[in-house]
Order: sequence, then structure tokens, then C-alpha cells
Amino acid sequence: MALERRNLIFAATAALAAPALVRSAGAQSAPTGAAAAAGVVPPLQQAPGFYRFKLGEFTVTMVHDGSGVRPNPLQGFILNAEAAQVEAALRDGALPTANLPNPFTVTFIDTGRGVVAFDAGTGAGQLAPGTGLLPRNLQAAGIDPAAVTLVAVSHFHADHITGLTTRENGVVFPNAEVAVPAVEWAFWSDESNASRAPEGQRPTFANTKRRLGPYQAKMRQYRDGEEVAPGVRAIAAYGHTPGHSVFHVTSGNEQLFVMADTSSRPDLFLRNPHWQSVFDVDGAMAAETRKRLFGRIADERARFTAYHFNFPSNGYATRMGDGFRFHPAEWVSST
Ligand SMILES: [Zn+2]
Repeated sequence: MALERRNLIFAATAALAAPALVRSAGAQSAPTGAAAAAGVVPPLQQAPGFYRFKLGEFTVTMVHDGSGVRPNPLQGFILNAEAAQVEAALRDGALPTANLPNPFTVTFIDTGRGVVAFDAGTGAGQLAPGTGLLPRNLQAAGIDPAAVTLVAVSHFHADHITGLTTRENGVVFPNAEVAVPAVEWAFWSDESNASRAPEGQRPTFANTKRRLGPYQAKMRQYRDGEEVAPGVRAIAAYGHTPGHSVFHVTSGNEQLFVMADTSSRPDLFLRNPHWQSVFDVDGAMAAETRKRLFGRIADERARFTAYHFNFPSNGYATRMGDGFRFHPAEWVSST
């Protein structure tokens, strides 16, 4: 019944739209049904951006948070490559060479003993246009922010912690503890580092205080190798920021690495793991970390998620030349 009714509404809408199209196009070149239908489909409106898979007893949900744009990626973005090399890598990946989209996707894992969010997103309407879709996609995924018991933070860049609080400084995850890398906290909470930091890094000091302040009573610091939740162990992945950390998640015989920003765009940084981004606090260390951890992932054929890969932002890596090749995971659905 529901389907029939929808078809009727569709037919009626198409019929209403058709005369106007016929008038503008002329009777002899009346548009086909397909062209008429194009007028009733909302432009660029996607299905809700979430994607779910099982990991042993755990349930993983990837939730899309929108996409920003990096203007002019050929200049000043990658510090140890020529513009022509960057351009070739982008073309190889069928990516634009002028304005490069930078997508955001947050990993959520229900362990059966709590829901862990791995970073907090960009915050609804708080960063660039096109970002901040997390609350709406979370709702579509059936995850109430109040059900999140732990936010496991990888590092303190704005696109990862701004979503902890609203524009008005309200707490977004009211029942969550927040686990932060001890090394990251030591660096960004020390005002004396702010004066020595390059200008581009300075806003992170103030934003750290602003976003983590409201969680102070529920914040704990974790160290390399520490279990932050049952089945979730931190791994130091320093370089991108001083305390940047990733997570090794295990349930039953299955494992998953939550890789945060160890590599952003795979066509750039997995293919060329030695490349250093302007956003890396220590580019050489970030490159060493990338080679080591993705080497392990490739050798173990382990599944991983990454914050800045195209949605749904998870899959596998294999070795290719001096770098790695990314293989998106297969879409698995069940009824
Ligand atoms: Zn990031």
C-alpha cells in the first residue's frame, strides 16, 4: 500500500511539472519521463551518511560529518614535494587540482558495554560551510549523543574536537567521559608553547581550553598502550601533532585500527607516505609513524577507518612500491 501511494504521489507531481517543461521546451521536443522526473528530485540531497558493520561482538558505525575544501593544494600543502608531483598524484586519484575536498567521518563503536565516539566532529555549523553534518547523520543512524559513554580523542585539531561543544559552549555528549592523549594534553595546555608555535597552530591552544573545559571533571588522560575502553587500546602515532594517537580495537578474532589523521587523502599520503603536510607539527615523525603503522596494517591485512578518507572511510591497505594502496571495504548489508 505504501509503495502504491508513493507512486501515485510521484505520478501526480510529475504530471504537474510536465506542462511547464513542455511549454519551455516546445511541443515537438517534449522532454521524456526521465527529464521530467529530474525536476522533482531534490538536487544534491544524499541519503543519510552512515555506514555500519560488525566487528566480532562490536558494532561499528561510520557517521559522515560533511566536507571542507582545501584551496590550491599544489602550493604550500605538501612541504617536501614539487607542485608537479602533487598534481600528478591528484590526477592519478582522479581528484581536482584546484579545490580539494577534505571529508570528515567519525567512527562510533558500540561495544555492548558502552558507545565510544572516536573524535567529536566539526560541530554543527561551527567550521566551514559544508561541514557539521554529524548531528543529523547521527540521528539518522539511531545514535543519541546522550548514549555515548566515551569520546576517545586522537588529537586536538579543530576538526576533531570542536564538536564536543556547541557554538554556545553547551556539552554535546552529556553522559560521556573524554579520554585524551596525555602527551597531547601536556603540549596544548601549556601556554608557554603557544608563544613559540607558528601562527597557524596558535588557535589550537585556545580551542583546546574552550572545547575540553566543560568536560574537565570527566576528562582522563591516556598513555601509549593503555586500554581506554574494553577492547580499545591506544597506540602512539606521534608527528601529525605531538600526542596524536590511534586505536587498536579487538573483539573475538577480529581487529580494527582507528587511524585518525595518520594519513589524510590516501591518493597523496598512502601512495607517498614520506610526504609531509603543512598541518603536521613534526612532518618527519608523522611520515615515520605512517610507514610503520600502515606497514603493520598491510602485513596483517587488517581493516582500518580513517577520518579524512572518502565516506564510508574504511577498508584495507596493501603495499605498493614505496607506499600503499587503499582498498575500500565492500558494502555488506543484511536484512
Ligand atoms: Zn583532521
